[in-house]
Amino acid sequence: GGLSKATESRSNAKFSTDNRKVDAFARKQKIAQHRRSLPIASVEKRLVDEVRKNGILIIVGETGSGKTTQLPQFLFNAGFCRDGKLIGVTQPRRVAAVTVAKRVAEECGVELGQRVGYSIRFDDMTTGSTRIKYMTDGLLLREALLDPYLSRYSVIIVDEAHERTVHTDVLLGLLKNVQIARSKSVNDHLNNENKKTKNDMGLEKENGTQYLSFLKQDQGRKFPPLKLIIMSASLDARVFSDYFGGARAVHVQGRQFPVDILYTHHPEPDYVDASLITIFQIHLGEGPGDVLVFLTGQEEIESVERLIKERIQQLPEDNRKLMTVPIFSSLPSEQQMRVFVPTPAGFRKVILATNIAETSVTIPGIKYVIDPGFVKARSYDPKKGLESLSIVPISKAQALQRSGRAGRQGPGKCFRLYPESEFEKLEDSTKPEIQRCNLSNVILQLKALGVEDIIGFDFIEKPSRSAIIKSLEQLFLLGAMTDECKLSDPVGHQMARLPLDPIYSKALILASEFKCLEEMLITVAMLSVESIFYAPRENLDEARTAMNSFSSPEGDHLSLINVFRAASELLEKRNLSLGKEKADKVLRKWCKENFINSRSLRHARDIHSQIQGHVEQMGLHVSSCGDDMLQFRRCLAASFFLNAALKQPEGTYRALASGQVVQIHPSSMLFRAKPDCVIYNELIETTHKYIRNVTRIDYLWLSELAPQFYTLQS
Ligand code: ADP
Ligand code: MG
Repeated sequence: GGLSKATESRSNAKFSTDNRKVDAFARKQKIAQHRRSLPIASVEKRLVDEVRKNGILIIVGETGSGKTTQLPQFLFNAGFCRDGKLIGVTQPRRVAAVTVAKRVAEECGVELGQRVGYSIRFDDMTTGSTRIKYMTDGLLLREALLDPYLSRYSVIIVDEAHERTVHTDVLLGLLKNVQIARSKSVNDHLNNENKKTKNDMGLEKENGTQYLSFLKQDQGRKFPPLKLIIMSASLDARVFSDYFGGARAVHVQGRQFPVDILYTHHPEPDYVDASLITIFQIHLGEGPGDVLVFLTGQEEIESVERLIKERIQQLPEDNRKLMTVPIFSSLPSEQQMRVFVPTPAGFRKVILATNIAETSVTIPGIKYVIDPGFVKARSYDPKKGLESLSIVPISKAQALQRSGRAGRQGPGKCFRLYPESEFEKLEDSTKPEIQRCNLSNVILQLKALGVEDIIGFDFIEKPSRSAIIKSLEQLFLLGAMTDECKLSDPVGHQMARLPLDPIYSKALILASEFKCLEEMLITVAMLSVESIFYAPRENLDEARTAMNSFSSPEGDHLSLINVFRAASELLEKRNLSLGKEKADKVLRKWCKENFINSRSLRHARDIHSQIQGHVEQMGLHVSSCGDDMLQFRRCLAASFFLNAALKQPEGTYRALASGQVVQIHPSSMLFRAKPDCVIYNELIETTHKYIRNVTRIDYLWLSELAPQFYTLQS
């Protein structure tokens, strides 16, 4: 009997492997068919030829036509990775780099990290075998610090160039020069450049040669020429073509079904509420098809997610087949792929996305788009040196991209939650980020690359002179730059090495002197994620009580440290015998009980261990100030003196560097206490100008710890 049983189970096992093989085979077939059906598939040969013929190629193609996922595979198959060289593809957004790399690895039938991988800040999924590497534009800029000729790459594709992030813009300038330096016919190239700029201002011509003297031609020519491809979803390729001296641009046809655009009669006072109502109107009144809602950030997405779940419970049993899937940049990467999982039969999927779903990732199955018309954006006032995040109206180009998402696989509908008259008033396109952000980060990196003349740098569109000067001044105040505008040694160089905003890099360096680097590492990690606490409207009191158990009378930075440490202690106590999955579960439960956002906390813990690695590598000493929180607050004052604010008689605050009148955000521990003098880490503009993440300091510390700024003032 025993024998036959064994055979039986063996044959069972065999059967199930076969089954899996059949499944995998079916999936492979399906993927192959999907790839063949993409608009870009029919022009593979033509595209490869164009890349062979042109050093620089601009590819314009509608979103979803297959540019990002297919072109790198075409080039790989055409032999562009011979001799172990890489094809690099840059994305403005982390999520896009990750999800696309996973998809392409699957399409190629390889493990992620083998032939296809990704690398983003704090998360590297590449190996020595990686040939197609997806990454953020910021990461490639950092690589240039170590490998100025980008010698490992045979092709670099700058994807989503229409987004015009500050990193993309700087990267374009850098790549232009790298390509010239690596070009076999450097002299021809230079001659052309000279001819071309003859009529231009002397400044630009000078700059071209000056930068080249850093990237030495004779060294660059040791490497094979670099192919550059700029990809964009915007139909206007002229700005890129002009920038690259009349480079060739080709257009890839897309496929677009008609989309009905519906407007509201009146402006909506509360677009979050209006979105919710529209979601349920679609769910109860429209035919099958998934819904994509554009919201402005993690906090908003998570609160809408909770509200949908509540309202579903009030529906009759038959109508509850609605599932929500969030997607935003700090979502843990294993959760990001959920948007691509096909909706189960009979269900409707509601995707709650930031503007990441506008062009960067294309999600199949969407028939309805809800567009409240807003986006969270940075803005910068160079006169005041004031950077803030605010929720602003989108541009017409963005509105069109958003509605287009509804017509990928069939006719769709887009609900714009604003009247048509408002649409007419929108700007045609968004101003490039480089013209509305603090440039100190960019300048630090350019300086570290050896670019001395920032004002003369060949930007695709120049930032204003005043913004450059203000940012240089800030770097000088932070001690990153000398009087002669050179990077200071060692502080400036150390700051450039850390993958953080200069002000945070400086805080870490200072903290090692103040002997509180352990505390500052936690602080910087916690400040790098969106909202650790959440307070749902329906259990506000409970949430407040939970929050209070972590709160410190000194302010938010200490409270954040308390949360981080409480979580670490919990895991240390319970973790010894738990696997990673169990530990995650324990943490999630604890977060839920304490009204802490577990996604944010996990993200902060990841960032923490990464930055800790960086500072240890730099030789900084990680020690704790123990209970001496005075020491830590003094270090906060020394680090964030540019963000100090003084209480006014009427209870508002005046930011000392800019003179702005601001208020402490209601979510702050110090909202009621209102101490005389504070430092803060974030300025957001909603109905008021709010400062967030606030800690009490002593006014006198400022002139003691930041005399370079505060004695000048008095
Ligand atoms: P483009 O870059 O031109 O906008 P992509 O190459 O990103 O286009 O996408 C091509 C197609 O691949 C789209 O139809 C998209 O829906 C599909 N796709 C991309 N990523 C995934 C994924 N992870 N799962 C399923 N389909 C995907
Ligand atoms: Mg793309």
